[in-house]
Amino acid sequence: MKKLTLLSLTLLFLACGTAKNVKKDYAKAPVEKYMNSITPDDLKKHLFIVANDSMEGRNTGTEGQKKAGKYLIGQYKANGISFPPPATDWYQKIPAAYMSKSYSPVKPGDSENIWAFIEGSEKPNEILVISAHYDHVGTKNGEVYNGADDDGSGTVALLEIAQAFAQAKKEGYGPKRSILFLHVTGEELGLHGSRYYSDHPLFPIDSTITDLNIDMIGRRDEAHKDNGNYVYVIGSDRLSTDLHNINEAANAKYTHLTLDYTFNDRKDPNQFYFRSDHYNFAKKGIPIIFYFNGVHDDYHMATDEPQKIEYDLLAKRAQLAFVTAWELANRPDRPVVDKDGK
Ligand SMILES: [Zn+2]
Repeated sequence: MKKLTLLSLTLLFLACGTAKNVKKDYAKAPVEKYMNSITPDDLKKHLFIVANDSMEGRNTGTEGQKKAGKYLIGQYKANGISFPPPATDWYQKIPAAYMSKSYSPVKPGDSENIWAFIEGSEKPNEILVISAHYDHVGTKNGEVYNGADDDGSGTVALLEIAQAFAQAKKEGYGPKRSILFLHVTGEELGLHGSRYYSDHPLFPIDSTITDLNIDMIGRRDEAHKDNGNYVYVIGSDRLSTDLHNINEAANAKYTHLTLDYTFNDRKDPNQFYFRSDHYNFAKKGIPIIFYFNGVHDDYHMATDEPQKIEYDLLAKRAQLAFVTAWELANRPDRPVVDKDGK
């Protein structure tokens, strides 16, 4: 009896010791549970704050924008997420002079990119960037341009995607690669924040595996007035066939949106590929995806208000970015660059 007990204890001890070192089987990770933690209600709660009149339209370098930035930082802190370790705080400061154009009457104040970070457990030096611009165009003639869709929608999507990854990490399924959540500034004045980051990257460009950029995902355009279950996907195939396939597979498995490639046509007159922050990553050879709902009557109008957002659509599109990010962070190989970006 005694011997047996000792043996049992020994076995138990050994089993515990082994269990501690056993790697989680990511094939069994409850990805859908994490994905579904990105909810219309949470996005709505955040967006009614980020696109509130008190943020004064988040014009680059203004107090209103800085206030919105503080709200974002507060949310990361509440979720136990910090800024990236090589940095000493939440901000990548960008001097006003960097954002001034000699021909432009708009002279912005000093501004900041804001970053948050979840370190990878297996390949911490490989970085996935998820970006959205948190600036908008401010106030004009006493009217606040809230920019709920542009790009309050992408801004709050980042908060929820980060929270989903943080929850997964708490449950032992932290991302294998590192994820940088990058809220860039100065987009409306000329993609300045992302250009600054790509010229002064915190992590080497060579180690940056992909940028998923989210800019306007809370509305639908005229072409989809009868069915909002879509998202425009731009740029996914221009540098990496892998990245394109990963996004397609993630959508087929989890989100079932219609992926509309109309604006990825090289001849499309809108040339959206060059018109948001992902482009500053693409031009450095980093594979990108731009998620976008197209333009609508409230685009760059004072009427781009949070009550006009379709929160179920916003959630679904943010979920697609999340499951694509999940695959990028956890698959054995980073997406191979096999195209020239054209
Ligand atoms: Zn925008």
